[in-house]
Amino acid sequence: MRQNIVAGNWKMNKNLQEGVELAKELQNILSANKPNCRVVIGTPFIHLTEVCKTVDQDLIGVSAQNCADQESGAYTGEVSAEMVKSTGARYVILGHSERRAYYGEDNAILKTKTDLALKNELTPIFCIGEVLEEREADKHFEVVKSQIEEALFHLSADDFKKIVLAYEPVWAIGTGKTASPDQAQEMHAFIRKTLADKYGKEVADETSILYGGSCKPSNAKELFANPDVDGGLIGGASLKAEDFQGIIAAF
Ligand code: PGA
Repeated sequence: MRQNIVAGNWKMNKNLQEGVELAKELQNILSANKPNCRVVIGTPFIHLTEVCKTVDQDLIGVSAQNCADQESGAYTGEVSAEMVKSTGARYVILGHSERRAYYGEDNAILKTKTDLALKNELTPIFCIGEVLEEREADKHFEVVKSQIEEALFHLSADDFKKIVLAYEPVWAIGTGKTASPDQAQEMHAFIRKTLADKYGKEVADETSILYGGSCKPSNAKELFANPDVDGGLIGGASLKAEDFQGIIAAF
């Protein structure tokens, strides 16, 4: 059966000391209170090494929030997938809407990043999702489908099985406006059908599809209760151990 996952995305928050403190707190809470799902935290690059030393990754997997689209060389300021791997991190968030919107990441770039992540044995948490105008124009299914097709459908079924997807409607991120449980389920079922058409039912059934966008302790349970919602990618509410734990406890 596919894995239920609650993944935190700290974004550009917490200095190193604060990040290690939060990781410690989560480690203590979750070792005393075993989660019923896989837990992952996505930290800034510079936190990865220390956070990997702070947590037991069988309890809390550690993730980067991005990696370069090049293997190595003269790319000032970039961090390669191989470097991420060498910190001990096991996951990398790719294609977050903030990367797409502010740093010009398109499906072609994300295809390359995915290949480099897989080559370095990182699990991509691959984000997809429409902006408000696309939903209002009834184009959300089309947009999400093409994001998946263009960045991921070159993968073999064996490689596709290593991907975690995160559906994050852009209009719900950091806005306090969550997709309703029905809207989330409708899109997740559509995504799973898209995967089944390409890779077959078995691969589609094994793929974890997370929901992201203003997920919090008060709405996590009803979102995760949907048959095709396999957990969440959590921004704001992953920055406080208590809130993040409240979401994890929804499973
Ligand atoms: P949010 O962010 O939970 O703060 O809406 C989710 C995300 O961007 O991954």
